[in-house]
Amino acid sequence: MQNFTYQAAPMRVIFGRGTLGQLPAELERLGISRALILATPNQTKQAAQVVSILRHRAAGIFAEAAMHTPVDVTKHALLRVRELDANGVVAIGGGSTTGLGKAIAWRTGLPQVVVPTSYAGSEMTPILGETQDGLKTTQSSPKVLPETVIYDVDLTLTMPRSLSATSGLNAIAHAAEALYARDQNPIISLMAEEGIRSLARALPKICIDARAVGARTEALYGAWLCGACLGAVGMALHHKLCHTLGGSFNLPHAETHAAMLPHTLAYNASAAPQAMARIARAIGRDDAAGGLFGLAGAIGVRRSLRDIGMREQDIDRAAGLAVTNPYWNPRPVERDAIRGLIARAWAGTAPVDDVKSATLV
Ligand code: NAD
Repeated sequence: MQNFTYQAAPMRVIFGRGTLGQLPAELERLGISRALILATPNQTKQAAQVVSILRHRAAGIFAEAAMHTPVDVTKHALLRVRELDANGVVAIGGGSTTGLGKAIAWRTGLPQVVVPTSYAGSEMTPILGETQDGLKTTQSSPKVLPETVIYDVDLTLTMPRSLSATSGLNAIAHAAEALYARDQNPIISLMAEEGIRSLARALPKICIDARAVGARTEALYGAWLCGACLGAVGMALHHKLCHTLGGSFNLPHAETHAAMLPHTLAYNASAAPQAMARIARAIGRDDAAGGLFGLAGAIGVRRSLRDIGMREQDIDRAAGLAVTNPYWNPRPVERDAIRGLIARAWAGTAPVDDVKSATLV
């Protein structure tokens, strides 16, 4: 075994069914007497549920969280924090709502309790991505880590099937890249493989029955593990490429990850064979990239970037952007090969390990 460094994130996690009921005790523990409840407009019902549980500890609701944490929205939320004299936040929702909670914590130092309702994993990371004037900036600080995360399986039962599938593959992407991260370590790799296994087993069942509690429990557990991987080690080609595609062509977050993952893994396959073997073992297939392409198809994910809004003429620009700012990846990032993978992802055709294909010719 090689030398390694492992750093645990100082977070308290409560996991199970009906765990939202523990929210008042958590706020008391953290000394939060007036919480601002954050949500998206779609989840005002769940925000209202939080208010009814918290009663006098709820100062008010701000239900305007939006994708990619726009700074303007954060400014409005900060006004509400001041107006209501809030001394903590409770974020209930997916990655967009968690992002808003982190943006508030970053500016105010207020404690946060996050109640994730999707599989995005942001609650486990010290990363804050924000957008202003069409530009996305990302920073990392322990200041944005939530004090407590409450995973309540019951809250995920309402997640639409399509979001469950794409959000689940988004989570698998965190763990897949953790397995070949430059700063990988055996503890995170254990979590990564288990996270992938749990989600790969659960997602097909959720696709048949969105309210299947056993599968939902397994998926949320897997998403937590995958989020922890994202928070602990550095990501590579897949995350950088999805970040570029989402930011430059305004593509939806989870769908982009879901469509790209088989292709980015195929690109890295020859450079990270051990990681690929672990991913393949976790999903119960012979081949990581092909297996995930099959899983995505089986759970009804749109596998082509064309179908989620990318134009064919943007493929070249995307390939150019992908090689503009160099970053570490197990295989060097080569423009022509990257163009090829984006073109395949755009068309929705099967992933190709171009290195292996070249040696076979
Ligand atoms: P999202 O939070 O935008 O959710 C998509 C929609 O689904 C929203 O309208 C939301 O209200 C709704 N929704 C979520 N859970 C639901 C449920 N259980 N029932 C019904 N509706 C539900 O999307 P997401 O994929 O969860 O998160 C994407 C965002 O998170 C992006 O902005 C991304 O950049 C960010 N993100 C950040 C990190 C990080 O570490 N900073 C990590 C992952 C994702």
